[in-house]
Amino acid sequence: MVNVTSIRPYNYNIAFNGRIIDSHTHLGKMDNRSYEPDSLTKFHKKQTDNPDEDYVDTFVTSALDGMCRKSDGKYVSNEIEANKNLINTIKSANAQNIIKPLAVCQVDSGNAKNIEKLFDEGDKFYGLKFHPMETQINADDERYNPYMKIAQKRHLPCVFHTETTDGYAAPKRIYELAKRTPEVPVVLYHMCLVPAKSVKDLPEEEIQARGLQNDRDKWCWDVRESWNREGIDVVEQAIKNKDANLYLETSWTKPETMIEAIKRVGADRVLWGTDAPIGDSGENATKENYFANVDKYKAAIKEAFPENAQEIEDKVFFKNAERLFGNKSKKISNNDKAIETVGYAASLAVGIGALTAFIKNISQKKNNKIQFQDNLQLNEKPHKESILQRIIHKFVKKL
Ligand SMILES: [Zn+2]
Repeated sequence: MVNVTSIRPYNYNIAFNGRIIDSHTHLGKMDNRSYEPDSLTKFHKKQTDNPDEDYVDTFVTSALDGMCRKSDGKYVSNEIEANKNLINTIKSANAQNIIKPLAVCQVDSGNAKNIEKLFDEGDKFYGLKFHPMETQINADDERYNPYMKIAQKRHLPCVFHTETTDGYAAPKRIYELAKRTPEVPVVLYHMCLVPAKSVKDLPEEEIQARGLQNDRDKWCWDVRESWNREGIDVVEQAIKNKDANLYLETSWTKPETMIEAIKRVGADRVLWGTDAPIGDSGENATKENYFANVDKYKAAIKEAFPENAQEIEDKVFFKNAERLFGNKSKKISNNDKAIETVGYAASLAVGIGALTAFIKNISQKKNNKIQFQDNLQLNEKPHKESILQRIIHKFVKKL
């Protein structure tokens, strides 16, 4: 019997138009503040009968206390505590279906064996999170290797804070690291974050190199696309060279930068994220603010890609995230996944004596599904389910 909890059968009756997975959020302690699950779940919205209404059903999150430091320079929580606390916080809020944790890795003071142990003890993490600016270790340093190997072994993605300021988290370093385990998906959070200073405080050389000679009075923030592009550049390069599996995430970028990213690296490589409860979707933000922001980015997609806006929105707002962070404890290739789903459903069908018709029907579905996942074609109109299939799907979904 397959492990049914690792399978999310594709439900052919649901219109996914408005679905959102926020691939970058946080919980935990930072600067004497503690962000509890309600700081994310306040943005959570259930799907309504209106297929076009946006709703967030999943937040991919990591522990701030495993990345932030106290005044004595030590992390608020060590590598084990931070991740254990996060799991327990989500459990006690009964939010396991909404908030999906990543394991924070303290490459400077921790040990990959800690993370391995968490997995061995049954804690469920959906990827690994790295913050090279906080660990102050260059992202291409060999000390990241054992952690990346865990991601490789467990078929999990790795997400990185990016920033150019002093080079620890520079996209080009993350690219170098990602080349060592090219099958591991690596997400560049913020594409490449801008330094918190004004343009005139940058070295003259850099002002010239970025073409910001006429922007000296501006904050770097106002011309942040100059930095964001460094993330887009490396992803473009990795696609061309086929030597790393890189993705871009949208928090702290402008809608027009997301559009540039989609044009240059394709909609399959861009993920929606907000950094909530920090930034635009911070502690004072309301659900209305969150969705006003979503509207802004979606409007930009509609304007730039009028022909296939829905397809691109689906990829950026949930399909890519689902593919990367999907609930899996082992690698489920596109074909395996479809076959496992079929195998499980078929075993139920035997019990109710409808095997022949069911297999015929489901194998048609299997074909649709493989095509759907391999080619990422989203425009297929799924065929109607039989009553029997609907009952089985309902049952499988509940497990
Ligand atoms: Zn963040």
